[in-house]
Amino acid sequence: MNFESLSLSKPLLRSLEAVGYSEPTPIQQETIPHVLKGRDVVGCAQTGTGKTAAFALPTLQRLMESANRPTTGAGQRRKRSGRRVIRSLILSPTRELAAQIGQSLATYGSFTGLRNTVIYGGVKQHSQVKALRSGVDILVATPGRLLDLIGQGHVHLDHVEVLILDEADQMLDMGFILDLRKIVAEVPGERQTLMFSATMPPEIRSLAKEWLRRPYEVQSTPVASTPKLVSQSVYFVERQNKQSTLTRFLQGIKTAKTLVFSRTKRGADKIAHRLQRDGIRAISIHGDKSQSKRQAVIRQFNTARPPVLVATDLASRGLDFSDISYVINYDLPNTPEIYVHRIGRTARAGATGQAVTFCSGDE
Ligand code: AMP
Repeated sequence: MNFESLSLSKPLLRSLEAVGYSEPTPIQQETIPHVLKGRDVVGCAQTGTGKTAAFALPTLQRLMESANRPTTGAGQRRKRSGRRVIRSLILSPTRELAAQIGQSLATYGSFTGLRNTVIYGGVKQHSQVKALRSGVDILVATPGRLLDLIGQGHVHLDHVEVLILDEADQMLDMGFILDLRKIVAEVPGERQTLMFSATMPPEIRSLAKEWLRRPYEVQSTPVASTPKLVSQSVYFVERQNKQSTLTRFLQGIKTAKTLVFSRTKRGADKIAHRLQRDGIRAISIHGDKSQSKRQAVIRQFNTARPPVLVATDLASRGLDFSDISYVINYDLPNTPEIYVHRIGRTARAGATGQAVTFCSGDE
């Protein structure tokens, strides 16, 4: 199966060729035709399955088509005001994931003439407002900042044709439900809605029922099951020995790109600090670091000689590191879902990876 057979248009095929994707992943094969037909879709999909392209590609195509139909509402409105209006809204739990989606849209849409921008909290709003003023077709946003800017009159959602909720389970976990309700109320009822979630707890099912119309269901991997290409192992190590075990382990694998998970922010800093003391290049990332600091860390991690990255779960959400060889759980995660998310960082889109978990007696 190739992308041509999914009836994607030339500008999209061109950008796919440029990024070197030769065939659609299973979730892309399943999702793209339904979204192109205008159907609502609810997808149970982890990161690493190619779900971003699964919703981004057909959405770009639909927006190109509707912009070219001068008799449709959206096309007319754009002509009359002479300005682009937001025709697709993509909601994400974290700024990192939002930025990632924005990047994917820019890549996949580079020959479409469509414009997107990303808004999230934790940074000054000025440049975001400026980008909105200049007019965008697609807006990627975290819920809090979006509501802020709606309140200030900088964002209008009344022309939205496609609403996408990404990592819906995480948005609920982070307490965004009321914000989401307010945002969905701003979007026209006559729309296409796509919802993706790594897990499908009952709350997500009931929201899907409320917000989606007869959705087509895609399931890229069963709920809370782990990607097949990750080899998983556990080391029984007492807490006081974890740091030295980690050092020895990292000395053994040397050049491999490695992500270490810590349960707490302070823990992440401490682990990175001690690795440095042991002569291993390491950096940490977590929610207490400023946005610019986090971006610098991500850039460093994506270089040819990356330091070991020590992260908390929230900070790692949505980060797209495609060639991680090892994920190490320094602390045992609290739930199967978190474990699945963590080790899903490795073995993305067909590559193989290894997950190693340190487990102490009390865990
Ligand atoms: P996602 O699940 O959307 O976070 O995507 C995971 C990774 O897979 C990203 O690095 C994408 O660039 C990559 N990817 C997505 N679709 C394909 C494809 N059809 N072929 C190869 N890589 C892909």
